[in-house]
Amino acid sequence: MENNNFTFSEWADMFASEVLSEKLIAYQNKRKDLILRYSKALTKLSKVRADDFSLWFGKYWLKIKYGDDIEKLEKKIKQFSNYLYPKPVSEGMITDQEIATAKAYPFENLIDLNAGGFAKCPFGTHEDARPSFKVYKKENKFFCFSCLEKGDVIDFVMKTENKTFRETVKKLSGGN
Ligand SMILES: [Zn+2]
Repeated sequence: MENNNFTFSEWADMFASEVLSEKLIAYQNKRKDLILRYSKALTKLSKVRADDFSLWFGKYWLKIKYGDDIEKLEKKIKQFSNYLYPKPVSEGMITDQEIATAKAYPFENLIDLNAGGFAKCPFGTHEDARPSFKVYKKENKFFCFSCLEKGDVIDFVMKTENKTFRETVKKLSGGN
């Protein structure tokens, strides 16, 4: 069925996805059936009174009879399901562009700053009657004169919202 002149996706592109889904289900069922028969045969073999060599040979023979076919089917199943159900892009890596966009996200959207660019420190590690958390607009970075925390807007969101770097970059660059 597969033609060696094409890559798998070039080949798969020629078929409607329903055809490929049916094929995938057929492969999965065949795999289930083979595994069942393989394990039944192994169980049967384990009950046979025989010398070690005969048992070893029996297992070896079953492995060839079923194992190789199961392995081939698993490869096909993986190929088909990767093609039919690709992983969403958001699960992939972060681009430099997304990081740059995230770093430029304005602090003003996240925290109220007074005219001097100060706010009460949001990290909650100290009293802050006189705001000591300062945002430097030009660099889009912060520094707290009381607890000495500092960083960019990504560090800020990671700390205040308890998010991972990835989650933060996605959020600030307009992703999820
Ligand atoms: Zn502080």
